[in-house]
Amino acid sequence: MYFIETLKLRQKLFFLFILITLGLILVGTMSALNINSMKKHIDSVYFGSLIPVHELNEILQTYHGSLVGSVYSIKSAGKSKSEINSDIVSSIAKIEKIWKSYETHFKRDEELAYIDYVSLEIQSINTYFLKILKASDEGKDLTLISINSLEKHMLQIHAVLKKLINYEIEIAEYERKTFLSTYNVTMIQVGIIFAFIIIGVLFISFYVFRSIQKDHSHLEIATRKLKIVNKKLENVSYTDSLTTLHNRRYFNLICERELKRAQRINSYITFMMLDIDYFKQYNDTYGHPQGDEALKAVAKVLKDNLKRPSDFVFRLGGEEFGVLLTQTNVEDSVTLAKEICSAVRKEEIEHEGSKVHQFLTISIGVVCCIADEALLENILVSRADAMLYKAKENGRNSCEVSTYITEATPQIVAKKEEKKLSA
Ligand code: GH3
Ligand code: MG
Ligand code: MG
Repeated sequence: MYFIETLKLRQKLFFLFILITLGLILVGTMSALNINSMKKHIDSVYFGSLIPVHELNEILQTYHGSLVGSVYSIKSAGKSKSEINSDIVSSIAKIEKIWKSYETHFKRDEELAYIDYVSLEIQSINTYFLKILKASDEGKDLTLISINSLEKHMLQIHAVLKKLINYEIEIAEYERKTFLSTYNVTMIQVGIIFAFIIIGVLFISFYVFRSIQKDHSHLEIATRKLKIVNKKLENVSYTDSLTTLHNRRYFNLICERELKRAQRINSYITFMMLDIDYFKQYNDTYGHPQGDEALKAVAKVLKDNLKRPSDFVFRLGGEEFGVLLTQTNVEDSVTLAKEICSAVRKEEIEHEGSKVHQFLTISIGVVCCIADEALLENILVSRADAMLYKAKENGRNSCEVSTYITEATPQIVAKKEEKKLSA
């Protein structure tokens, strides 16, 4: 059944369909052939035996009834001469007609000679009755007809016809027996073929369905693996490889999402932009690889200080970092920014080239305000950037805060009024 395994799903289903169709065609053909052969048998029993028996009996009855009756009428003078003549003529005509019909039916070779003999016997007895008719026409005294001779003739034809009837009945019985035995054999054959087809279809169906199931579970496993790989890829695409912090792409995504959420519930949102002081000099003094280590150390400080699920830390690029806080008021945000500044300093990373401190320091620009519809992502970023610039201007190693909301409030109120009026 390796062949089935190699097929594709559609091919497997098509194969099963073809198999069932072929099975049905085979059973249909077998049934049609058998019905046809049964019809032939029934025809042969009906026309070959039953009709002939009926016809022969009718001939016999005509002899015993009409013809013998006519002769007795002559003797008893019960009927007129013309009536008797007409009875004899019509009876003989009837017998000849039935005999001709009998002769047209299918005959076996072994019965042909006997049929010829019966035909001669019929002619002979008919001639006997025609002679009586002639004598009647000639006005002879018919009461002198010998009953013995009549009975002798009747016994003869009776015996001959009875023999033929018995033969036809025997043939009918033989045909019936043959028919029943072929019927039984055919039924057994059809049963066996049916059983084979059903077993075959079940067998192949089992393989096809098992193979489909296998394919399906392979597909499920592959889909699961793909999902995991996709998730990993997604994580990779949102992660900065040096610091393992989220990158700028992820910041864009999260900032928009969190800003919308804060706007919906009118809650605080804080964004901090962090930049290492005199980092160019740091690289120049200690080399680029050491600079990378310093970046990792700062990233670790940020991670350690921002552990709430609603806090997000990003490396925005170069030696610039971003921090996004939700539901943190101005006071707490400023405290946190100061703590971060101090924590970096406390790492005591030597920085000879710095003009503000012997260790590595950072400057932070902070924006903290209640989110409203006027607050946009780029405003948040540029405002934090401006605050960072201010911190640098003010001597570095410090943070500058903007509570944007207070500065923007008049514009927001004006916008809201405008909206109300237009509504
Ligand atoms: P300021 O205090 O005004 O910020 O001075 P600065 O020297 O830090 O100036 P600036 O921010 O313009 O310098 C950025 C430097 O950061 C320049 C570049 O050499 C360094 N830098 C950027 N990305 C990386 C990085 O991935 N690794 C290392 N080692 N250094 C980087
Ligand atoms: Mg910079
Ligand atoms: Mg810098």
